[in-house]
Amino acid sequence: MSKWDNKRVLVTGGAGFLGSHLCERLIEAGDEVLCVDNFFTGRRANIAHLLDHPHFELQRHDVTFPLYVEVDEIYNLACPASPIHYQHDPVQTTKTSVHGAINVLGLAKRVGARILQASTSEVYGDPTEHPQTEAYWGNVNPIGVRSCYDEGKRCAETLFFDYHRQHNLEIKVARIFNTYGPRMHPEDGRVVSNFIMQALRGEPITIYGDGSQTRSFCYVNDLIEGLIRLMATPPEFTGPVNLGNPNEFTIRQLAEQVLALVGGVSELVENPLPEDDPRQRQPDITLAQSKLGWELTVPLSDGLPKTIEYFKALSSNGK
Ligand code: NAD
Ligand code: UDP
Repeated sequence: MSKWDNKRVLVTGGAGFLGSHLCERLIEAGDEVLCVDNFFTGRRANIAHLLDHPHFELQRHDVTFPLYVEVDEIYNLACPASPIHYQHDPVQTTKTSVHGAINVLGLAKRVGARILQASTSEVYGDPTEHPQTEAYWGNVNPIGVRSCYDEGKRCAETLFFDYHRQHNLEIKVARIFNTYGPRMHPEDGRVVSNFIMQALRGEPITIYGDGSQTRSFCYVNDLIEGLIRLMATPPEFTGPVNLGNPNEFTIRQLAEQVLALVGGVSELVENPLPEDDPRQRQPDITLAQSKLGWELTVPLSDGLPKTIEYFKALSSNGK
């Protein structure tokens, strides 16, 4: 990159929930963004407002196939994140994580780009340590219904670290915990979008199991800030680094909070707990605090109303 050029940044999965926010932030920072997506779970509507921007380019492409472009940085986000969607075609999910990682790492090696992997708290599986630090190796079922996602992401981390050791690539690995906010797909199947849509429609709020399992919910803007800060760290810092809300909530508490905010007539009902559903999930974010100076700025009590407004507007537009 010459000094008068803008940085050219590839975002795979750029039309998805997190990817679209990331593309927007990078463009605001003056970067040129190439958004690559196969639209499996992503939507054109998420990036419609960027399509006419002179620094934005969209390419329909499946990352399980090689990609030949010239860029300075790569954020690899391509992969369905909702259990319903990643279990729809589990073989393709593993291919997306593993072949996708090989393809983007090969690209980074050829063009000398710095590359960031959107990994996940799922690499910890159903954790036996609590909260989870990056040093914990995890408790993952290799042959269950969630394994295509969990093991795919674990193998992608392995590939990132082997490309780093073997080919000197500048890598960054973020372990993202449950994140929510505007542009989640209303039919995405994840808990925050499900509960809000059910409350808005006056339908029963479906708690899986007894609702005592926990998750830690991070608002999207905070998460994107963490990814951008991670990419900007010195070359010797690779991560993995946890990014997420250090405060933990039970799923029942989330349901009650959503219902209190939306109002309406929905009742809470218990449905069967999906197979291998992790009991507890809470990040230790000491590393992100010290290396990235990163803190959560949007508590659930502020982020939920913003997300509810988004879904209300979608519903009133008939989308
Ligand atoms: P999302 O489903 O909204 O976005 C994923 C995007 O990747 C979609 O636009 C989809 O069309 C695209 N995609 C899927 N397979 C592809 C392929 N083979 N080739 C090209 N594009 C493909 O999900 P999200 O919540 O935005 O998640 C983005 C990334 O962050 C994922 O890698 C996910 O694993 C990771 N992550 C997200 C969370 C979260 O809570 N949102 C938590 C942990 C990790
Ligand atoms: N969940 C729920 N009701 C729903 C959707 C999800 O109770 O309608 C639960 C799910 O069983 C899990 C938690 O909410 O314990 C988070 O689920 P999600 O699919 O959002 O993400 P996960 O962290 O399991 O990948």
